[in-house]
Order: sequence, then C-alpha cells, then structure tokens
Amino acid sequence: MSARVGAVLDRLPESGVDAMLVTGLVNVRYLTGYSGSNGVALLTPDSPKFLTDFRYIEQAAEEVDSSFERRPAALDLLDAVRETLPEGGMRLGFEDAHMSVWDHRRLRDRLPERVELVAVHGLVEQLRRVKDANEIARIKAATELADEAFETLLGERLAGSTEREVAVRLDHGMRERGAVGSSFPTIVAAGPNGARPHARPRDVEIRPGDLVVIDWGAELDGYFSDCTRTLAAGAPAEEMREIYELVLEAQLTGVRAVKAGAGGREVDASARAVIEAAGHGVRFGHGLGHGVGLEVHEPPRLSQSSEDVLVSGNVVTVEPGVYVPASFGVRIEDLVVVTEGGCEILTSVSKALTVVG
Ligand code: ZN
Ligand code: ZN
Repeated sequence: MSARVGAVLDRLPESGVDAMLVTGLVNVRYLTGYSGSNGVALLTPDSPKFLTDFRYIEQAAEEVDSSFERRPAALDLLDAVRETLPEGGMRLGFEDAHMSVWDHRRLRDRLPERVELVAVHGLVEQLRRVKDANEIARIKAATELADEAFETLLGERLAGSTEREVAVRLDHGMRERGAVGSSFPTIVAAGPNGARPHARPRDVEIRPGDLVVIDWGAELDGYFSDCTRTLAAGAPAEEMREIYELVLEAQLTGVRAVKAGAGGREVDASARAVIEAAGHGVRFGHGLGHGVGLEVHEPPRLSQSSEDVLVSGNVVTVEPGVYVPASFGVRIEDLVVVTEGGCEILTSVSKALTVVG
C-alpha cells in the first residue's frame, strides 16, 4: 500500500468513518496517479480500489499505483460503488467539497441501508499540503520552464505590442518548452489595467513608460508554477519607481518571515506592515500568498484571516501588490518551499525593476 493511502486510512478513525470514497479528481490523482477525467478511489481497510470507465482502462493500467485493485465500471461510477463495498454495516466517508447535492442523493439511493454516508472535509487536501521531494522537483521544473519562457520577453520591446500579444508569446514559449499548458489564463496588464489584480489581457497596445504586471505559470506533470513580475515598458515615472521599491521591500520582508512554525496570518502581517507604514495599506486588498501544488491555489494560505501554520514541505507564493486605481499596479510574486529555518526560493527571475525596450 502506498504511503499516501496509508496516511488516509490512518486518519479515518478521527473522521469517524470506516472507509472513504474519494471523488475529487485532483485528490484521486494524488492518491492513485490517475490523470483522466472520470475516476474514483474507494479506500477500505482491506484493499484500496480504483474505478474508471471503458475509455480510461488502458490509461489507468499505466498510471494507477499497483496497490489499487482496478475495476472497470459503467460511465456513471456511482453505480459501481455499491458492488465494490465490503459486506456489513459501515460508515462511508465522502468528500463534501467534491460531491454535488445531486450526486449525493443518487449515491444515497443506490446504497443499502447498512451503509451510512458521512461528510468528510479536506482530508486528502490536508495531506497534499506537505510536498515530498518528488513533488518539489516537479514544481521546480515547472518554475524553471516558466522562468525561461519569461526571460525571452526581456530581450524584446514591450511598448507597441498589445497585452494579448505578450500573453500569447509567453504561453507559446511555455508550451514550446514542454508545458502541458498555462497554470491559469496569463495576466499581462499595462498601465491602469495593472491596477486590477486579476486583469485580463486586452487588445490594447502597451505604451512607453507603462508598468506591466505579468502573472504567469506553467503546468507540468500535473503540478503548477506561479510567478509575477512587473516590468517597465520604458523609463517609468518617479511615483511608479517608489511604489515598485515599496512592494519589493514588502516582498523581501514576507519571504524572510516564511519558515516552519510561522502562522499564515503572521507572515502576511509582516509584509503588509511595510505597505501600511508607507500609507498604502488600502491599496493591498488581497492576501499575501497561497499554496501551490496539484492545484494552483490550495492551502495553506498567507492572509489576514488565515489560521494555517506553515510546516516544512509547504510550497507557497509570496505576492504583495499595490494597486493605484485607474493609474497602475505593481505585484511581485515568488514561489518558495518552506524549510525548518526559512525557505528556498524556486523562482529565479530578477526582482530588480527591469526596464524593457
Ligand atoms: Zn500568480
Ligand atoms: Zn499566486
């Protein structure tokens, strides 16, 4: 049995269940290795089972960890859960974050009275927070690939291209280097558009002197990277330089606060204090960072409301920003691995204010 399955089984008693039905596809991938779009894992103390339909039989044979008993099933996998359960009464946990009300009702209808369905929240997500060496290597590879694609932008003129053209160049560069795709729709936001933290690239030309917020990442082997840099498309105004240096100081302060044992709220507060002291607190309206792994946004969180405590092996972003409405924005984001005494920064792109073209 794999260590990951063992860890789930170890936690069943505290969740008050005898067995666990895992339906969240990312969690299924984490436990079994399966990367298709229709699969469930049923973890019972005797032997873990994996169900998928006809379309994925061959793929599952290649991908699914050998400790799982693989069972072919009808397209609607809930139909097969009943036959796969052992005899006798049991409390069967299901992932409340990954089952619709409709599916829950259908599952209840299919199961015998002897099976009690119990909502379990975040059990596999909890395990996923701590990355092993193999996972960290994959995230690092995704980061390196994304960094390389970004560096090619630095040799070209930004002013005169549209935001969308730059985003397409970056996406293409990541695909060329082996990425499955982008971690999320790449953000390229110049001038006033940069004041929107989740801006969409427009068909609008970048102007000389604009600050350009670029937030991008690569998906590789199921894992994601996430990074932001703010470039200047020609010499920026003094106010932009000042805000840039402020955000950079906050970012460096945040990175220095990351270590095993630090609270997510505490790390957020350390970076936020720098921005607040300069009178720009209200212009930093989002959290400092988030976990990254098989999902690009996952626990633990670094924010004002976080109750998470960092542990060694967490992979988190540190990404303060200051957004001046209708004018410009600055965000600087690194991806880091939490260690006992601090953190290892995975992102290698320079954070000094870079003037392009
Ligand atoms: Zn990002
Ligand atoms: Zn991020």
